[in-house]
Amino acid sequence: MITVMKFGGTSVGSPEALQRVAKIIIDGSGSKIIVVSAMSGITNFLVKGVDGLPDSRNDLIEEFEKKHADVASQLFDGESLAEFMKDFEERMGRFRNLLSDEAASKDPYYKDNITSQGERFSSLILSHVLRSAGVRSVALTSEDCGIYAEGRPLSGSADLRKSESMMNIKVKPYIDEGVIPVITGFYGIKNDGLPLTFGRGGSDYSAAVVANAMNADLLEIWTDVDGFMSADPRIIPDAIKIEEMNFSEAAELAYFGAKVLHPRTIEPVRIKHIPLKVRNSFKPEEPGTIIHHLRRPRDDMLRSVAMKTDLSIIAINSAEIAYHPEMVARIIEKIAENEVVIYSISTSLSTVAFLVHSNDVKSIFAKLNTLDPGDIERIEVKNDMALVCAVGDNLLSKCGVSAEIFTAVKEAKANVEMISEGASDVSLNFVVPMSRVTDVVKILHNKYVGSESDEGL
Ligand code: ADP
Ligand code: ASP
Ligand code: MG
Repeated sequence: MITVMKFGGTSVGSPEALQRVAKIIIDGSGSKIIVVSAMSGITNFLVKGVDGLPDSRNDLIEEFEKKHADVASQLFDGESLAEFMKDFEERMGRFRNLLSDEAASKDPYYKDNITSQGERFSSLILSHVLRSAGVRSVALTSEDCGIYAEGRPLSGSADLRKSESMMNIKVKPYIDEGVIPVITGFYGIKNDGLPLTFGRGGSDYSAAVVANAMNADLLEIWTDVDGFMSADPRIIPDAIKIEEMNFSEAAELAYFGAKVLHPRTIEPVRIKHIPLKVRNSFKPEEPGTIIHHLRRPRDDMLRSVAMKTDLSIIAINSAEIAYHPEMVARIIEKIAENEVVIYSISTSLSTVAFLVHSNDVKSIFAKLNTLDPGDIERIEVKNDMALVCAVGDNLLSKCGVSAEIFTAVKEAKANVEMISEGASDVSLNFVVPMSRVTDVVKILHNKYVGSESDEGL
């Protein structure tokens, strides 16, 4: 039995947390492969720091070194500290060289390289914690493992096939020998060997890629909440833990804003039928949430509600566009050139509207401007939008569910700006102004999560 265990930033964010995690790993049965995020706060620190480079180079490296050395000094002493420092200084040396490498700083993927540094150090620390507890362990970077990625800067996708064949050569022998690898999350490497990150929160996806590559029996995502909840507990304090979900439900919620899983985590495990558990590293006695292929149907009207903020609607007007699908195709092709994610599309006789992240609006405009001016009459943009994703069992086959949901939206005094229903059979998605979205989620959650559908209707 092979289990891939992923520990997020808060789970490895302090000496106590790291000790707790080491115990969870040691107590687990079978073969284990560990994937880690950077210690909490480190990636944010690097993201901020990279914009100030090269002026802030010395401050950045000193503070980075201090943050990690402080944690290490509380975890190791004597021989274990000396052993750790040897590896630590070698990695710090490489990081220092990277920061002073003028040519590297011109590379479009430089930010990927800098922001992925946190994982290289958290994995090193955790591997040494395991070793000082008498367990055989090795810290491996994505370069060491051959986790391959492709795509644009800061939004890579894993090359599953290549990663699988490389990891079988480079990682499998450790498993066979009973050594626990502690692998860097968050990034893979391009064909040129340089890092490409998977987007913020990408260590969940890394762990799913590792589980896929190693044909694991189970993927465990260890985080700071009891499991996948009926809503973000930071917004809805009385959100309840969901015991069991299927892959589609979890994938829709993660894609539409449930931060507990990176949006792309599900696919690599779903295709290999590898079940996934979400668990709390601060409460290892809790069973967490199991996400798998099948689950028993339940009667709740809604299982979980997620929201995604900072979105914009771009509405493109053109006479009788509905009769000119080739024009719609040209517009989509232009948007696709930037590889932006389109969260929803809706059409009418003379309008096609897209829901996108607000950061992408500028680049979409630049692309649309290259279309034949005769094609488009007018483009309107609505900013500060948020998408609500409501997931429930066979939501769309239950008569009257939409009416119920939109009555709740009216109660929150929100105007529905766009609707997407029918694209997935487990979710209903709609767009409201960002200023109202928290109220909408609260009302929907209070009314329908945990309530029987018959009661709700
Ligand atoms: P990690 O560092 O372990 O990857 P994250 O901060 O990325 O942790 O994800 C865990 C956080 O996700 C929780 O603290 C919670 O606030 C947030 N969250 C959002 N939606 C949900 C949900 N439906 N269920 C559980 N947590 C959620
Ligand atoms: N450390 C990265 C981030 O903060 C990846 C992760 O935590 O999953 O985005
Ligand atoms: Mg996360």
